[in-house]
Amino acid sequence: MNNLLNYTLPEIEEICLRLGEKKFRAKQLFEGIYQGKAISEISNISKEFKEKLLTEFVDTPIKLHTKLVGKDGTIKYVYQLADGNIIEGVLMSYSYGNTLCVSTQVGCRMGCKFCASTLGGLIRNLSAGEILAQVLFVNRDNGGDLKNRKVTNIVLMGSGEPLDNYDNVIKFFSLVSSENGINISQRNISLSTCGLADKIKEMAELNLQITLTISLHAPNDQMRKEIMPIANKYSIEKLMEAVKYYFNKTKRRIVFEYSLISGKNDTFACADELFNLLKGLSCHVNLIPLNEVKERGMQGTNRKKAYAFMARLEKNGISSTVRRTMGADIEGACGQLRAKILKDEN
Ligand code: SAH
Repeated sequence: MNNLLNYTLPEIEEICLRLGEKKFRAKQLFEGIYQGKAISEISNISKEFKEKLLTEFVDTPIKLHTKLVGKDGTIKYVYQLADGNIIEGVLMSYSYGNTLCVSTQVGCRMGCKFCASTLGGLIRNLSAGEILAQVLFVNRDNGGDLKNRKVTNIVLMGSGEPLDNYDNVIKFFSLVSSENGINISQRNISLSTCGLADKIKEMAELNLQITLTISLHAPNDQMRKEIMPIANKYSIEKLMEAVKYYFNKTKRRIVFEYSLISGKNDTFACADELFNLLKGLSCHVNLIPLNEVKERGMQGTNRKKAYAFMARLEKNGISSTVRRTMGADIEGACGQLRAKILKDEN
């Protein structure tokens, strides 16, 4: 069944007219669903109209499956989609606002060796409305509305490869930043990709204001191929060419994610190789000590060593930070909680 959140306000006006309702009803409907309500919960439209809508559209695209609150205030959500699949998200609070990590696919087919999201492969893409629904649900769950938002920033870093679901993700950007909706500025949105170079170039043409984040994780092709199958398709050279193209078009600083894996990519030699790769580029490096995923048999670098790696990059003039581990007590990393739930249920 379809989902009303896939549609813009003018499109919902068309739907209202088609179903024999006045055009102004669209605004009430739109406001209701953007407040995170199910169609059946919207009080200012008639029962008959709701019944008509429910023959075509799901009452609500996502429901809460599990919610865990960590000691540091990080909230992990597992949602159930209308078809029964489950996806996850995390809300992290910072001094500047609350960042929601959203999923873009059920599962993932990229096969990165350290990532739990890809363990069962790709089940399906999420629609634009299903990605948006995560934002609206969490905003409401935390007492927010369209004026007083409790989700201020979004990162596409949940399960899935956003550029492998390109059309729906691009549509999501326009829905989530549209003025009559929740109106979250594209500047407050980051898209993280394992590096689909062709799609990066395609996206550059759209001149979006989002931050492009590249999951690099290795400073050379040989090492990258060992942990990320996508490296067999796009070499680092090809990837960097696309990244530079994106920067030249948008002038947005690029962020690189580099997960530190003990004894693998965390040596000073790797730091220097990384520096050589990135020098001259307007960028920032996020160092993330690998969150151990039991099924994967790789360990994270300890924090002391991570800071030494950072210092080595900084000495050479590359800005970097060691990411705080948030929500470690609640299976905070990508796909971990979903993987655990699926395992427990089977
Ligand atoms: N598919 C996208 C978005 C996914 S995730 C991408 O690859 O960028 C967000 C980040 O978390 C990615 O950089 C991913 O490589 C990283 N990641 C996944 N599993 C991890 C783990 N166990 N520990 C640390 N980082 C991990």
